[in-house]
Amino acid sequence: MVTILRGNIIHTPAFGKLETLAGGYLVLEDGVIAGVYPRLPEGYAACPVEDWGEKLILPSFADLHLHAPQYPMLGMGMDLPLLDWLNAYTFKTEERFADTDYARRVYRRLAEELVAGGTTRVAMFSSRHTDATLILMEELERAGVTGYVGKVNMDRNSGVAQETTEESIAETLRWLESCHFDHIKPMLTPRFTPSCTDELMAQLGRLAAERDLPVQSHLSENTGEIAWVKELHPDCGQYWETYRKYGLWKPGTLMAHCVYSDERERAAMAEAGVWAVHCAASNVNICSGTAPVRRMLEEGVPVALGSDIAGGDQLAMSQVVVTSIRASKVKAMETGEPFLTVPEAFYLGTAAGSRYFGGGEGFAPGHALHAIVVDEGVFPESTRELTLAERFERAVYLMDEYSIAAVYSEGRRVK
Ligand SMILES: [Zn+2]
Repeated sequence: MVTILRGNIIHTPAFGKLETLAGGYLVLEDGVIAGVYPRLPEGYAACPVEDWGEKLILPSFADLHLHAPQYPMLGMGMDLPLLDWLNAYTFKTEERFADTDYARRVYRRLAEELVAGGTTRVAMFSSRHTDATLILMEELERAGVTGYVGKVNMDRNSGVAQETTEESIAETLRWLESCHFDHIKPMLTPRFTPSCTDELMAQLGRLAAERDLPVQSHLSENTGEIAWVKELHPDCGQYWETYRKYGLWKPGTLMAHCVYSDERERAAMAEAGVWAVHCAASNVNICSGTAPVRRMLEEGVPVALGSDIAGGDQLAMSQVVVTSIRASKVKAMETGEPFLTVPEAFYLGTAAGSRYFGGGEGFAPGHALHAIVVDEGVFPESTRELTLAERFERAVYLMDEYSIAAVYSEGRRVK
């Protein structure tokens, strides 16, 4: 089936590269992009056109790090450092998800809000609860979100949320057995080194290898955490080595934060194909620091963005893109390195995540469409006619769920 979208098409087909096309045509065959054209090719002349008029058609967002069970505590506990914040708020909130009715209610709303804000790809932490994790996957699938979800593993230093090692593994196996979704797949999720015993890490590493499962966790978020990891693993020179030791450091492993990853740790990421997920809002909110994003990119570390709710206070990835730009300007003022431009940060919030999931950059032909349509009607009226590049910049800064008129995920319209 052929679907044709017409409108002002704007995308970033490479890092730092912005392409705009006024009144262009985006042609899909069975939801897969066949091409972007200034004029409709002859062969499609008889096909119906979804005409979005003056609206902007942009790639949709990918959120590669967020904690679903922290959604209820969005905007809370922001005056505490990481480890106190975990104990005072996070573990208690996550424990509510033992209740499956509660999980259903919260996760349905979360999935809907993700789509409303234009996020169609995720890599997400659930809680330790198998049933709630399956409900989360079901609700994401229903709403049209694609990507990975992980039941969290945590068998030490986890307060009220702690599992035994046996429980953690048995429940992980039960969860994997029950995952049968088309667009949402399982991802192994040791919370972070301090909350997993050596035995648990070793068993998860074996599972990752045997079943070829992807892995996500946290790395070098703050200095207290790094010192703690050093105490727990005196044989490991650096934090990342605690993951390598158990087979969890492999191509496609997602590591959130990497604020204090030095040159050696960054080289290990680039070499292994481990991704850094930059979570600027969270890093500033809980005073972790400003990550060396520009350095990572220059050194060949793959980087994508995450909202990291509820350390991050905004679920909307457009705002995460903006916060990443702001954080990079703080870094620039400290170090003199160039800040992230709007097209660069937009690329990291859209195309980079798409690439992570095997999709294309921008609207590359041959890949299923992930897109949003932005209606600028609610923005302040400008004093002069704006170029498409200017309208793109304004849309990145100002868009919200009310100005996102439509969302396409995996070739289907979901909003
Ligand atoms: Zn996190």
